[in-house]
This record gives sequence, C-alpha cells and structure tokens, in this order.
Amino acid sequence: MSDKEIRVRFAPSPTGYLHIGGLRTALYNYLFAKNKKGKFILRIEDTDRNRYVEGAVDNLLSTLNWAGLQADEGPKSSGDYGPYLQSERLDIYNEHIKKLIVDGKAYYCFCTQERLTELREKQKKEVIQTKYDKHCLHLTEDEIIQKLNDKTPNVIRLNIEPNKEIFFNDIIRGEVTFSSDTIDDQVLIKSDGFPTYHFANVVDDHLMKITHVIRGEEWISSTPKHVLLYDYFNWERPQFAHLPLLLNPDKSKLSKRQGDVAVEDYMQKGYLKDALINFIALLGWNAGDDKEYYTMDELINAFSLERVNKAGAIFNLDKLDWLNAEHLRSTPNDKILIMLKDEISKSNYSNFDCTDEYLLLIIEAMKERVSFVKEYIEKCPYFFEPPIEYDEKVVKKRWKDDSQELLKIFSSRIEQLVNPRKEDYERILKKLCEEKEIGLGRLIHPLRLALSGVGIGPGIFDLIFILGKEESLKRIDKALDQIK
Ligand code: GLU
Repeated sequence: MSDKEIRVRFAPSPTGYLHIGGLRTALYNYLFAKNKKGKFILRIEDTDRNRYVEGAVDNLLSTLNWAGLQADEGPKSSGDYGPYLQSERLDIYNEHIKKLIVDGKAYYCFCTQERLTELREKQKKEVIQTKYDKHCLHLTEDEIIQKLNDKTPNVIRLNIEPNKEIFFNDIIRGEVTFSSDTIDDQVLIKSDGFPTYHFANVVDDHLMKITHVIRGEEWISSTPKHVLLYDYFNWERPQFAHLPLLLNPDKSKLSKRQGDVAVEDYMQKGYLKDALINFIALLGWNAGDDKEYYTMDELINAFSLERVNKAGAIFNLDKLDWLNAEHLRSTPNDKILIMLKDEISKSNYSNFDCTDEYLLLIIEAMKERVSFVKEYIEKCPYFFEPPIEYDEKVVKKRWKDDSQELLKIFSSRIEQLVNPRKEDYERILKKLCEEKEIGLGRLIHPLRLALSGVGIGPGIFDLIFILGKEESLKRIDKALDQIK
C-alpha cells in the first residue's frame, strides 16, 4: 500500500437545490476523507449551460456548510488544484482534447441533428442498439480541415474500440465488466465548445489527484467511458465506489412524488443537522453492529467503504424522526434555547416577552416529550398564553363534583406562599389530599386542566412552578369561573 494522500471529491451540478442523495454522496466522501486523514474536495460541475440556475452554487455551499461538510478545497476555500468550477477550466479541457485527437482516441463529428435522428430511427426499426455509427471517423484529414475552416458545427467524440471487454474494480460491487459494443462514441466536447460531464469529470479527477471516486450508483454505466479515458491518456485510474440507490419504503426509486428530496425541505421542517447526518449515514452503511445513534466524530471513526451495502437503501422517515428526538435530547439546553428563541420569533408568539430562565425551565420540563424544537411551542402553547378553552373530553373525565372546592382551597393556600419552590406546591397539594382522604390524581387532574386547558403535559409541579404563583392563581380563578 502506498501512503499517498487520500483525496476525494463531491462534484455536484448546481441544479438549484441539494438532493438528499447528493448529501449522502457528499457525506460518505467527507467521512471517508476524514477517516483517512485525507482531503475532501468540492468541485462544481457546471458545464451544462442549459441547466444553469442563478444562485445555485451559493445555495449548495450554504447547505453543505449547514450540514457541517466543509470542503478542504473548493470554490470558496483555497487549494492548489483550482479553479474548482468547471466553467472556469475550459482551456484545460481544450488542451487535453487535442492530445486525444492527435492519438486517434477522439475525433471530430460534423453530423447534423437530422442525420443523427434518422440514424436513431433506423436503428430503432432494426431493433439494434441506438448509437453513433462512427461515420465521421472516416473523414480524411483534409476534409476535416476544410469543415473546420468552414466553421461547420461539430462535436468531438470518444473513439470506442468495438468488441472489447472493459473491466474495473468497484470497492462496493467488486469487479464490473462492460462490453465496449454497448457503449456509444460519447460526445466529449459539445458544439458550444463546452466539455460534457464525462470528459471534464475525468480530466479534473486526474488533475486534482483524486484517489477515490465515490458517487451514486446511477453513474456506474458512465464509468466504462471514464476508465477508457484514463487508459487513453495513460493515466492511473482512481478507485471507484458506487453507492446504493435510495429507495422509498415501497422500494421505488426515491422521488419528489413521494416526499421531500431537497435537503432544504428537511432544514425547514426543523430537523437537526446532527440527526439528518446520522440518518443519512445509515442509508447504505452500518458498522456491523446495531448501533444507530452516532455523532459526526463517531461516524468519522467508524466509517469504511467496505461496509457500504450493494442493495438499495430504504428511506424511512420514522427513523429520522426518532433520531431527531434522540439528538435533541442530547443537545445542551443553552443550545436549544437559541433555537427555541428563533422558533418563537417565527411563531404566533413572536411578541411573547419572557426571560431566558423561563424558557430554560420549559426546555428542561419538556425535554423527554418533544422530538422537534418547534414542539416546545406546539405541544405546550399554555406556557405562552393562558388556555382559551378546556379540552371537553378531559373536563368530562376529570372535573368532578369536588373539583371546584379542592381548587379553591388549594389556591387559597398557595396564595400565602412567598417565592414558592416546586417542593412547596407539592407539599401543599399532598397535604390537602391527605386531609380530604383522596388520591392525588383527584386534585392533580383538575389542576392541570385549569392551568393548561389539556390533560397531558410535563409534571404538574413543574407546570405550576414554571407558570409561577400569580399566573397559576389567575388561571385557577378563570377555570373555576368557566368550567361548570
Ligand atoms: N456532476 C455529477 C453529478 O451531478 C457528478 C457525478 C460524479 O461524481 O462523477 O452528480
């Protein structure tokens, strides 16, 4: 084994948003690089001018940053192998294509769209594979020069030798074989002078000294063309690893139709970065045990390409929700506080005025009961406004003949307290129930209803303590007046 530096890249085309599958590719590259103390490179593959989307690159960068996948080299980072935007590397591709032409490994093609369409139709009728028939490979040098001088529109194609077996090794799939007969003479340079994905991708992977190409399975059929290019240039091939497809629970290919596929959608829904990363990491990889909860550092330590599965990975949102709850639970309260304040500012309670201490008490009391930061508001709005109504079902079940009387005594007793602590409320409530020879629930349930309007929530003494004496007394009064 050489101790060559490991260099991997994430090479997205800026389509406007980062697909969840793209995030998985980026993450596996990142984890592999960090595990091997190598470099994670970001290269933007923007040579398809028809698909150009304004702002797409910035959007991609900010999403990757949010996910914590900062590139060691890339458009906004330094690096010795830039530029990292393919549209700024056109000279490099032009220089390289010339070499292939000289060696007869690539050739000009001047065929018109009409001819190509006719050819395809004919092949379809004959039920043979539709591919270019190498018509222009047979042009003489003079003919080529003449056409170039005449500025006849042209492309440059890869000259694939027929009847050859093309092999490559894939770290995840083992040896992969293709027959060259099934491969079209791929266009390398388009008529607008821009390279195609295949050509730019190979030239850049070589020049950027990429050691491992880790990408989605959908690219595996492109790889024979790529390995031919490496061979034609006499370049050392990188190692390949094609990641399994992402599937919906019904095993169909993950698609927009069945749910969200943009990482931004998950950000907006309030998923934590750590939970999403943890979830994505498990889409096609496991460490060989049943551990499911991982921090980024644990993932970096445990990750290996050898343990990536071949079979498609099922995208199971229930697991993501579970992981979100787990990660939220292990997030320190002061961090949750920042996120909660942000949620409040976006909610109906944007004008709610309270101290950080108040919110921290809510965070602690509700921690085991929420899976998302926004649920700190949705699941307990009563911390932000007094109940407007009282859950009828709970009233029916819990409001007994003696509830009025019990609550009246309870509130007259807590009224006497000065700066009560949680224990003081508890003591008073227990004593009262003892005196009346009733179970605690007999008072706890109507009290909770009076304070929150609902039948479930945090511990009753947390609830009353957080709301405070004055607010609780007001709420009990109001309930006594309204619940009959
Ligand atoms: N630009 C390709 C994409 O959009 C990159 C594929 C590869 O990694 O080779 O995914």
